[in-house]
Amino acid sequence: MLRICLLSAVALLYAVPVQAENYYVRSQGEYAKALESVKAGDIIILANGEWRDFDLVVTGRGRKDAPITVISEEAGKVILTGQSSLRIGGEYVLVTGLVFKDGYSPRGEVISFRRTKEDQARYSRVTEVVIDGFSKPGRYDVDYWVGLYGSSNRFDHSYLAGKTNKGVTLVVRLDTEGSRENSHRIDHNYFGPRPVLGSNGGETLRIGTSRYSMFNSNTLVENNIFDRCDGEVEIISSKSGGNIFRGNVFLRSRGSLTLRHGDDNLVERNVFFGGGKDYTGGIRVINRGQVVRNNYLEGLRGTGFSSALSLMNGVPNSPVNRYVQVERAAITNNTVIDSTRVTLGAGEDEERSAPPIDSLFARNLLSAKDSASFLAVDTDISGIAMADNLFVGGEGRSEIPGIKRANVQMVRAENGLLYPADPSLLQVGAPRDLSPVALNQVGPRWYAKPSPDPGFGASGKVIEVTNEEGALVKAASAAGVGDVLMLAPGDHVVSQVIALDKALTFRGAAADEGRDSIVRFTGPALIELREGGAIQLEDMVIDGGLAPNSAGNSVIRTPTSLLQSNIRVDMDNVTVRDLDASEAFNVLTLGAGVLAEQVAISNSAFANISGTVVSAASEFDDDGKYNLEYLEIANSSFAKVQGNIADVYRGGRDESTFGPSVKIAGNVLSEVGRGRADGEAWSLRLHGVQTARIERNSFASSAPLLIEHTSGTPVTEVIGNQYSATPAPVYKELVYEGKLRVRDRDNVFDKVPAK
Ligand code: CA
Repeated sequence: MLRICLLSAVALLYAVPVQAENYYVRSQGEYAKALESVKAGDIIILANGEWRDFDLVVTGRGRKDAPITVISEEAGKVILTGQSSLRIGGEYVLVTGLVFKDGYSPRGEVISFRRTKEDQARYSRVTEVVIDGFSKPGRYDVDYWVGLYGSSNRFDHSYLAGKTNKGVTLVVRLDTEGSRENSHRIDHNYFGPRPVLGSNGGETLRIGTSRYSMFNSNTLVENNIFDRCDGEVEIISSKSGGNIFRGNVFLRSRGSLTLRHGDDNLVERNVFFGGGKDYTGGIRVINRGQVVRNNYLEGLRGTGFSSALSLMNGVPNSPVNRYVQVERAAITNNTVIDSTRVTLGAGEDEERSAPPIDSLFARNLLSAKDSASFLAVDTDISGIAMADNLFVGGEGRSEIPGIKRANVQMVRAENGLLYPADPSLLQVGAPRDLSPVALNQVGPRWYAKPSPDPGFGASGKVIEVTNEEGALVKAASAAGVGDVLMLAPGDHVVSQVIALDKALTFRGAAADEGRDSIVRFTGPALIELREGGAIQLEDMVIDGGLAPNSAGNSVIRTPTSLLQSNIRVDMDNVTVRDLDASEAFNVLTLGAGVLAEQVAISNSAFANISGTVVSAASEFDDDGKYNLEYLEIANSSFAKVQGNIADVYRGGRDESTFGPSVKIAGNVLSEVGRGRADGEAWSLRLHGVQTARIERNSFASSAPLLIEHTSGTPVTEVIGNQYSATPAPVYKELVYEGKLRVRDRDNVFDKVPAK
């Protein structure tokens, strides 16, 4: 082991007293020895390079003016890979400069502010660390990336992005007496993209649990950025009292800051930019004494629980794990602009029958996105004093006292936010001196933040593919992310399954060239989407005639193992024909543990298919782990399809997710869905889908469509369809006991056969 006493920048930075030691360590063995003798003021320097399978533990008694420090030789150049983790015990410990990537923690956390249950960290700090895609391989293997225990700890200027497995990204635990009223500080972190998990457990930050929610946590969450944190409906789940959420910025993140359990929290000076993205929410209020003031919310598209502002109805005498009635909430001086919804009394039902009381809603500035239902009043709001609110744009209810309608010009100020031009309106809405934290002020300066997701064709590179057998397989394997493979006119025979771990486009010859590009495949599948895979198919014919005669073929399939990444499938102007070499030959089959973030099919034609076109129904345990977030099928034709055009199944009663969302519009179906031998046959089955729009389709000689509602607040519209020799749709409410929640209008029936 090398001991050096250098007057390095490190030593200067942390003002180390003269007698302190610096330990420069190059191996896990050297580190362990250094830790044995480390004392207050000492610094352990980890040598640059890869540290594989490193169970890093730091503990000891530092002092306020002389912490025990573990630091990288150079910031960002110490990379912990494989099965690595960090645990901190003792007090006044400082860790900085580490990067976790290319692996995952074998433990319950990647970074834990406790070494053991007994040895919890106090007065310790982790700053400028990176956890990048360090996810457990199984989608439903649970861990936290950062667990804050003990008290008076700080986690700051760090980067956490790309968590794909279940479990909160950063959690504050209150499960011991010493970890309550903890005064932790979480600040200037970059919470980067977290993809849709497709089940509960995709929160980015949670403080406490329902079990300890009667205790105050007193945690400060300040000046962080949440960028595309789309895991589930709760971006932040506050489940304790006395927390402060101040000055945070939410960028295009699906979900909301939820005061789920616990009282007397303060939410102020936060900025939400939804950018018009689906399901972007604001602040949801439950429980007692919550203060929501001086926040700015723009471009949000969430409704119901995920409204820009949502005051929930409670359960009378609620148990701690349900919904405590809103009492003494003060919602003041917030600006809500270009947003879809503000909801008072959200979630009102037989159980949640207690409206907010002793509450105030004042001096808020509200502006709707052209929606007549901007202000949803779902309950008795006599317990909410409404005063001096200003409604400045869009349609809205005008009969509520305390909300004045005004024609106000809004001007974007230097801080990037909109304010009324009229200075006499200064006392309404968010304050002028908001100064939203910028991307370059959060996370470590030395680690680049992710750019927008590379889309299909993003590389700009086009690769010509000849008709030679095997040429397509070879080209696909050699191509880079976002490349386009141009298929020559004529036949392309593919004799091995193309395994895709990147986004690629296969494009056939343009129609005006007179000859189609026809892809035939001799294996059980044409394409298998692996980790990171996404496929766009355009302008081609796919012919199943050469596929083997064995059940379960599929043009596109996923592996039998779980996938961490969310896949995408896009088909435009594709003819798929003769998938009838075997039984149950599908076009797309999504297996268990796979989530397609988007499947889009347009201007395509499907004929002679023995299976289902989009099969997204591999969930059997009714746990809410569904297969598909968005499905759109438009302007396409389906003839002689024995299965459904889409089979989408989301089981369970959990309310933590937004999807699935399905749109089926402008399609022509004939002889679809009649292949099942047991007589139960559908042309389209949607089970537990949250948003469905079925419009302007024509169904001829087909099985009926089936829509089954489960939990949540499904929005289903069936509009302007024509049914010829096809039974009427079947709608079912499986959980909800009220009236059927389907808007069914302008549908035309012709020659309905006797059943
Ligand atoms: Ca949740």
